[in-house]
Amino acid sequence: MGNPLLREQAQPFQLEEITSNQTQELVQSMWDTMDEYGGIGLAAPQIGISKQLAVIRIDEDNERYPEAEKSEEIVIFNPQITVLDETLQGFWEGCLSVPGLRGVVFRPRKVQIDFLDQSAKEASFIAEDFLATVFQHELDHLLGKLFVDRIEDISTLSFEDELVLSEEEKEI
Ligand code: ZN
Repeated sequence: MGNPLLREQAQPFQLEEITSNQTQELVQSMWDTMDEYGGIGLAAPQIGISKQLAVIRIDEDNERYPEAEKSEEIVIFNPQITVLDETLQGFWEGCLSVPGLRGVVFRPRKVQIDFLDQSAKEASFIAEDFLATVFQHELDHLLGKLFVDRIEDISTLSFEDELVLSEEEKEI
């Protein structure tokens, strides 16, 4: 947080660029970085590349989000997001670009993401509940937004180490 690149609107990929060796290697290094830090999603601007690429995968028993449900492995290029259910849901969010902090962010509970997959084919994914929040968080990175921008009640902004969540709040 504070690096101006994280505040830029990321550039889209050309079709032939997606399938290039360079981009395929970039995707692999995104997974490696995400796994190294125990994240569940990572966007290219977080590793210094202002391009529209994000990866998401929730493993069972992720140490940062132990309560989160498992997801498949998703690589997203040039996404468009559509809200399918505007009902707001609040989750404690964290971010590898904002280390050590968590805060409560409210976002729509169901979204559709249209994007290009790793073979540059058109794909679509519907995400609900916590996974919808994960997608919105990652796609925000491509717009130059961070979760801290969306915290309504700034008093929820907390150091992870200090955060003792009640059972009710322990959703993620
Ligand atoms: Zn993030």
